[in-house]
Order: sequence, then C-alpha cells, then structure tokens
Amino acid sequence: MPRTRVHKQAVANPCAALPATPSRPRPLAASKARPPETRREADLPRRTPVSLTLPLRGSYASLVRQNERTEADGLERIQDDQDLRNRIARKMLVRVPVSAALTVNASLPADRRYCRPWTARFLSELARAHAALFHRPLTVSSAVRTVEYQKRLMQINGNAAAAEGDIASPHLTGATIDIAKVGLSRKELAWMRGRLLALEGAGKLDVEEEFEQTCFHITVYKSYLPPARTNNLGQQKTGQSTAAQRKAQQPGSRETRQADPGAPVGTASQGQ
Ligand SMILES: [Zn+2]
Repeated sequence: MPRTRVHKQAVANPCAALPATPSRPRPLAASKARPPETRREADLPRRTPVSLTLPLRGSYASLVRQNERTEADGLERIQDDQDLRNRIARKMLVRVPVSAALTVNASLPADRRYCRPWTARFLSELARAHAALFHRPLTVSSAVRTVEYQKRLMQINGNAAAAEGDIASPHLTGATIDIAKVGLSRKELAWMRGRLLALEGAGKLDVEEEFEQTCFHITVYKSYLPPARTNNLGQQKTGQSTAAQRKAQQPGSRETRQADPGAPVGTASQGQ
C-alpha cells in the first residue's frame, strides 16, 4: 500500500474541518512558549499559574508521536463507513459517553460520535471532574473519522492533516477526540491545561490546542486504563466463569477484544 510522503513543512492541522492556519511549533516544555495570550496575563486570577495561561501548541514531533503510539497500541486507521460500522458492531469503538457533564456538538453526525473505550473513559472522568468544579458540561466537537472522509477533507482544506503516512490525522484511529474551547472561561482553560499537561507528562495522552477550530485535540493511549486490576474487578462483577475467562484470554479471540478494552484491537483489517 503506498504511503503518503509529507514534508515537515507540510504538517497540518489534525483537527481541520475548515481552512486553517499552519500549525506552530510547540516545545514540549510548553511553559517556555510566549504566544500572544500572555499579553492578557494581568486579567487572570492571581492563583492561575502563568504557564497554564499559555496554549499547548501542536508540533510535527507531537503528530509523529501520536501516530507512533497509536500504532504501538495496535490501532489501525478506519478506512470507510463499512469499516466503521464493523468496528462499532464489534465494540472496538464505543459511543462518546454523553451525560449531564458531556455534550456533543450538534453538527457531528451520529456515526462519528464514537471513540476507543479508553478514550471514552478519559472523557467521562475529565467531564465529571470539570463539572464538579464549574457546574456545566464540556462539548466534544470531533471524534472518530475515516480515511475516506479525511481524503475528502484534504480536497476541501489544503491544511487538513494527511489521511495516510507517518503524520496522518490520529482521529482516523478513534483514539482522538476534540473538546471545544468556545465558551470556556480562562479559569476553565487553565484547569484543562493543567489536567491535560499532567496526563501528557504521565504518558497517558498527547494534547494540542488548535486555533481555527478552537479546540483541545487529545489523543488518548491505551495506557490510560489502569492495569489488570480493572479487568479483575470487572470479571468478578460480571461473574464470568473460569472457563469463560480462559477462553476470553486466548490471543486473537473475539471475546478478548469485546471483554477487554485494553486488548489489542488492530487485527480487524480493512481487507475484511
Ligand atoms: Zn483533533
């Protein structure tokens, strides 16, 4: 299969849905950046650390890392609508966990309101913590996409991220979601940055802030899920028999993928 070659200078916006400005380099030590928002530091509450007033810039390195880590997680890119439906049916993708604390942008089609199980868990926990502090919901503005859709997008928007290659949009794996920044107060933005940076530092996710789409673009890794303890509790809860557990643990079994959201999910190829 041909791999799209993209020059570094052509790094594009992985969230792009409309014409966008080029991504700007974001040093991983985001606190050292000095983008324009710092001009408004005086307006911020005194308790807000200055570093959290700064946007979390995307970079070529970050996009490469998102592709490498989702590949290491065994995630294939979802090719088209049929592929998407198959993966939803097999529970490799789950619904964005809408609740009083989490809404979805009304313009997002129903079959795009899906993500990986660990991404859904991240969303639930983030939204719950946010709502506890700010008493209103977060909004998901984008979730899973297909290669077919991304190729159409590239025709419309020259700055859209690639559909193939080493720096393709990680939305194609279902591990990535965008959370809208529109309407969030500076306190909320600072809180989001603090929480997301801590998780990024722990290797659980990568986050970028996009500006044309005004969103947090977040790729969540399988390691977000706690290790084995979760599975053990889940099995006890469901009362699975020992034989059933053994069957579910067989490599490559469908039960493995359905019962364990942390299991490899990349084996259902687009060739099926
Ligand atoms: Zn995005």
